[in-house]
Amino acid sequence: MNNGSITNITKVEPWKGFKDFVVKKKVMENDDIFSLYLEPSDGSKVALPKAGQFIGIKIKTEDEAMKKVIRMYSLSMKPNEDYYRVSIKVVEGGKMTNYLLNNINEGDVLEVTAPKGAFALNKEKTDKPLVLLGGGIGVTPVLSMLYDVVGTREDIHFVYSLRNMKAECFLEDIKKYKNEGLINGTIFFTRPLEGEVEGKDFDIKGRLTKEWIAENLPLNGDFYFCGNKGFTELVENSLLELGVEKENIHFEFF
Ligand SMILES: Cc1cc2nc3c(=O)[nH]c(=O)nc-3n(C[C@H](O)[C@H](O)[C@H](O)COP(=O)(O)OP(=O)(O)OC[C@H]3O[C@@H](n4cnc5c(N)ncnc54)[C@H](O)[C@@H]3O)c2cc1C
Repeated sequence: MNNGSITNITKVEPWKGFKDFVVKKKVMENDDIFSLYLEPSDGSKVALPKAGQFIGIKIKTEDEAMKKVIRMYSLSMKPNEDYYRVSIKVVEGGKMTNYLLNNINEGDVLEVTAPKGAFALNKEKTDKPLVLLGGGIGVTPVLSMLYDVVGTREDIHFVYSLRNMKAECFLEDIKKYKNEGLINGTIFFTRPLEGEVEGKDFDIKGRLTKEWIAENLPLNGDFYFCGNKGFTELVENSLLELGVEKENIHFEFF
């Protein structure tokens, strides 16, 4: 694994079906989100995703029921790394998330599809401000979009809405870019914990609203957002009501 420099310059064609990937690293990001860093078991290069795309994951097991479970996970790393990273929130009673958390460790092998999905950043559209919004674990694909373009263009707006610090995932990166003046970032904590301070740990207490969007985001921008159904509905409806053109609205929910 290469944490930083870009070594993957050869184009690798996406494969059909599943391919074996080894778990190189498993990191607990907080109490219920963990990241898996994956590399092809045969030592080949990864097929480069577009920022925002996801992979499908399947378990190699003799368990007939578990064998059939396939779940999608957005890639959460900068798209041109030589590994894939997925960041997964454990769901109560969830088959795949609990299996991965409890049974899969570094060195284990998973079956993985090539990156896919139409929710992907169009990097050529640079004439408009870029607005990225992530709700909860839905931050993963927009984070990848942010890593892809941060420092390469101006007028990037990033909005991250989450419960509080206990639910954070890569918040430090967003704060760093914001402090360096690379993005215009806003962090909403819907339920801050005691001791978490507005203006320091987060920017705004509560939920994102249409009024806030109208006052704080460039409505002539190109919008990409991901979160749960409630979050994406709120953002989509707000943007449409505020007159944003459909062609500038891109989203995915899970
Ligand atoms: C394009 C895409 C990208 C995604 N990216 C991410 C990502 O980056 N990170 C991430 O964490 N997730 C992501 N997801 C969601 C992910 O694919 C899984 O849906 C999620 O991890 C839950 O999987 P699971 O197998 O653990 O849960 P499941 O077993 O599918 O269960 C889901 C829910 O249903 C309930 N449930 C299950 N069975 C029953 C039953 N019989 N009766 C009643 N309730 C039941 C469970 O308790 C749980 O609440 C993405 C989804 C999509 C479509």
